[in-house]
Amino acid sequence: MTDIEYVRAADQGSALALVAEDPDAVFLAGGTTELDLALKDQVVHPSRFVDIGRLPLRGVTRDGDRLRVAALTTMEELAADPTVRERLPFVREALLLGASTQLRNMATIGGNLLQRTRCRYFRDPDVGACNKRDPGSGCAAIEGVARMHAILGAGPSCIALHASDLCVPLVAMDAEVELLDADGTRTVPLTEFYRTPGDRPDVENVLRHGELVTHVQVPLLPDGARSGYLKVRDRTSYEFATTSAGAAVTVEDGTITWAKLGLGGVGTMPWRAWEAESVLVGAPASERTFRAAAEAAIRDPFTVPGTAFKVELAKRTIVRILRTVTS
Ligand code: SF4
Repeated sequence: MTDIEYVRAADQGSALALVAEDPDAVFLAGGTTELDLALKDQVVHPSRFVDIGRLPLRGVTRDGDRLRVAALTTMEELAADPTVRERLPFVREALLLGASTQLRNMATIGGNLLQRTRCRYFRDPDVGACNKRDPGSGCAAIEGVARMHAILGAGPSCIALHASDLCVPLVAMDAEVELLDADGTRTVPLTEFYRTPGDRPDVENVLRHGELVTHVQVPLLPDGARSGYLKVRDRTSYEFATTSAGAAVTVEDGTITWAKLGLGGVGTMPWRAWEAESVLVGAPASERTFRAAAEAAIRDPFTVPGTAFKVELAKRTIVRILRTVTS
């Protein structure tokens, strides 16, 4: 292993400069992904960690009908926020189902958005065929054990899953990501933040080198809305989703008047089920509607033998969460 320089950033400006000046430098926040990949698995090779842990980017503020979450806020802090409890309960559910208590106290919201895939082949340096690590080398998962891989947004170059629970309700709620670099700030909808692998699985999002995630803005649920997060997994703790769904709806006189649906465990990125929402809005809150929404959500999946079971499982997950939030 080559040496990695460690620098603690004194302020935001020096943090940006320290990463911008070195193409192999990276920001380090809670460290729950980055340290594993660089030090334990040794599949990424940064030249420098710029520790941003002491920057004043922590806390949750409310601005009208939106929450503004600073990127270094921990998962546990966000889950405990009173506005999240009352006005974004499915965000809280996803946070609490997302990791152990120890991890939730270290892992940051910015880091959660930027977590790397759990694909076992990506994290094994002895596996040569991984287009995400080494573009053009192939994909070991296509013919390998692919139970925890994606069926939406996937293709022959890469079927790696984005494993975040938190991002599922966030993408459903039209959350936005605030980014900062030396040129200033920009705001990107979370639905446009990630990239599907295409022929560049190594490029996972629209972040430029040296750009820092500073905040996440999340609209609150409208009055009268109900929400829920359902995570289907092999065991009930410390396990990633096999499939998951986060739904929020309003129902008036038995008719769905507003609906948001995000999916986890199935996409190469946190998946927004736009087509399903179109089916739901204006339709009766019935089993038939829920199944039609599920069919619309899981259209044209890309499956390999290991992931084919997810098609029906994801549909059933959607039906069940819609039944729950409309009952
Ligand atoms: Fe690599 Fe993606 Fe294939 Fe996993 S699924 S081995 S990350 S190319």
